[in-house]
Amino acid sequence: MDLTIEGKAFFNGSFNDCCIGIKNGKISEIKKILKGDEHINFGNKLILPAGIDVHVHFRDPGMTNKEDFSSGSLAAAHGGISCVFDMPNTIPQTTNTQNLSDKILTAAKKSFIDFGIYAGVIDDNIKKIGSLAKKCNGFKIYLGSSTVALAFNKTNLREALQQISKTEKIVLFHAEDEELLIKNRNIEKNIVDHLRFRPSVCEETSIKNIMQASQGLNLKSHVCHLSSIEGLEILKNRPNNISCGVTPHHSLISTDKSVSSQTFYKVNPPIRSSFDKEALFNAAKKGIIDVIESDHAPHTKDEKDKEFDEAPSGLPGVETMFPVFLSLVKNESIPLQRVVSLLCQRPADLLSIPKGKIEVGRDADLIIINLKNETRIKSDKLHSKCGWSPFEDWPAIFPSHVFVRGENIIADNEIQVSQGFGRFVGA
Ligand SMILES: [Zn+2]
Repeated sequence: MDLTIEGKAFFNGSFNDCCIGIKNGKISEIKKILKGDEHINFGNKLILPAGIDVHVHFRDPGMTNKEDFSSGSLAAAHGGISCVFDMPNTIPQTTNTQNLSDKILTAAKKSFIDFGIYAGVIDDNIKKIGSLAKKCNGFKIYLGSSTVALAFNKTNLREALQQISKTEKIVLFHAEDEELLIKNRNIEKNIVDHLRFRPSVCEETSIKNIMQASQGLNLKSHVCHLSSIEGLEILKNRPNNISCGVTPHHSLISTDKSVSSQTFYKVNPPIRSSFDKEALFNAAKKGIIDVIESDHAPHTKDEKDKEFDEAPSGLPGVETMFPVFLSLVKNESIPLQRVVSLLCQRPADLLSIPKGKIEVGRDADLIIINLKNETRIKSDKLHSKCGWSPFEDWPAIFPSHVFVRGENIIADNEIQVSQGFGRFVGA
């Protein structure tokens, strides 16, 4: 055994004093007593599976002033995330095999953690979905426009889904109906306008379209960043092969209590009322929602600090997601078992990767936490290039140590490996 880690490990739904044996980057044994070439005893600290973020925008290539694979993955690592899946709306977009290969190469040079890549589906690459599938972990379809989104006409939806169903890859959706968005569009002066011009019916309609277009297909679909009660109600009756995710911002922040720096909270779909927020949080807590995803979409302070209508949509979140939810576990707002399911196990299941769970045979992607070490989020301590956080001053529990494939990549909150340690998780 290369390494053994001792502590209170979370598996089969509870904490057990034990040792985790690691060989060739995988968990090889879990026993009361084990000794490896190297042994680290974490005493009473907790050992959890590392998180997986199925939804990030690392802006690389093309917008590396906002973020790149190095800064984004470093932020993720410090937030206890061992693997991220990057969206296709970079410049250039990952809508052809060349751009997919290029992004994988760039990320492999820069990433501190493991990563996967989505291919974007646009109107004129539907016929090439089969070849794209060999280079990506899944597909993304934007049914509504957003800041640097990929245009897709919903009349092509059924055909695109038929093609994707042949590839056995998952497809993720930005579910806002473009026709309704256009109908409602107007100059937005503030966050309330943003909410009014992107009403929940846009999300509701789009989810109905997705469910209808997927009927009868052997297809894994995922509705990203659910934002409304109306959307949630429809998804309650979804078939097993449709999953959904919610972001920390949609489930923990609402617009009806004063959101001070309004442009900073501008995001698509919009952050809605406290009723929506509470319904989404409760649905996550009950397991009606499958995953928590950050939709980490960094824009710099300067870019955000504009007239409301001109400010780009999107918020950062990859580094704060797991720590904020661990703090919610501490104050008993949500059980730990549910958080592990939402941030680790279900994401691993959806993307079919051998991570997300403390189990023999899986990658030794682990984090060490101490629930007593609660701090407050301070933007100047975070690692994203964007330099701000919608969760400024929120209580959070950051992991002191992070292991990826058995390698201790963060020890006492300091990075231990170089960029390029991260690997593509394979198409
Ligand atoms: Zn996104």
